[in-house]
Amino acid sequence: MTWVSLFGAAMRALPLILLLALLPLAAEEHPAPVSKVKAQAKVTPAPLAHPAAPAEPGPDTPKAALAELSAGNARFVAGKRVRTLDTSHDAAMRAALVKGQAPFAVVVTCSDSRVPDALLFDQEAGRLFTIREAGNAPDLQGLASAEYAVEHLGSKVIVVMGHTSCGAVKAVREANGKPLPGNLWALQAGMAGLLESTPQDPNEDAAAHIAHLEEANARRQAQALLDRSAILRDLSSADKISVVPALYNLASGKVQFFKAVAAAAPPQAHH
Ligand SMILES: [Zn+2]
Repeated sequence: MTWVSLFGAAMRALPLILLLALLPLAAEEHPAPVSKVKAQAKVTPAPLAHPAAPAEPGPDTPKAALAELSAGNARFVAGKRVRTLDTSHDAAMRAALVKGQAPFAVVVTCSDSRVPDALLFDQEAGRLFTIREAGNAPDLQGLASAEYAVEHLGSKVIVVMGHTSCGAVKAVREANGKPLPGNLWALQAGMAGLLESTPQDPNEDAAAHIAHLEEANARRQAQALLDRSAILRDLSSADKISVVPALYNLASGKVQFFKAVAAAAPPQAHH
C-alpha cells in the first residue's frame, strides 16, 4: 500500500470516524426539551409530512389553526424546527405558491427584529399572513389587511402577539402622555388608554409594570380588532375565525396564548 492510497483510504473513512465520534454528543444535546414539550403539549398538532409538502393545505378550523401554531412553536422551543429547516422543496414551494395563497393564520405582531414570526411558529411561505407594526397596534391599513386575509384568503385564526422587552411599549410608558418626537406620537395613539387600563401597582417595579403592559396591550389590541371591524366581528361571532391575544417570550422562545377575545354584546335596542 502506497502512502497515496493509504491517505486516500483515511480520507474516505474520515467522515465515518467523525460521525461516530460526534454521535454521543448529538444524542445528548437535546434530551430534556423534547420530553418537556411533549408533556406540555395538550393540543393535537396537524399531521406533519416530513419534509413538509410544498403548499400543503393548512388547518381549516380556528381550533386546528391554533393547534398548528402551538405545535410549530413547541418545535421552535425544542430546537426541532421542521417546516422552516428543510430547503430541498424551496423551488417546488415557490412554483406552487405562484398559483395562489391560503394562509391559515394571520399574525399581528411587533416590528421588533427579535420576533421572527415564521421561524418561531415554524411555518414556511404561504402559511402565515403577517401584519407587523411597532407595538403590534395595527392602524387602519393593518385592520384592512386582517379583513382581507380572513375574507379572501380564508385564514382561520388571528393571533395578536406582543413580546417581552418591547421598546414601543416601554417608550409609550416612559413618555407618560407627553408627545414622542416625529411621527412616534402615532404609537401612543395606537395604544391610547393602555396606561390608564393598567396602572403601576405600588408593589411592582418598572420591569414588572412593563411586563403587565405588554400583555395588556396584546389583549387590548386583539379586542380592538373586533371592536373596529364588523367583518371580523361577524366571522368571530359565527365561530369562523378566532382572535387570540398572545405574548412571545424572547428568552425562552415560547408563545403564551391567552383566551380568544369575543365581540362585545350589541347595545340593547330601545323599546
Ligand atoms: Zn415590540
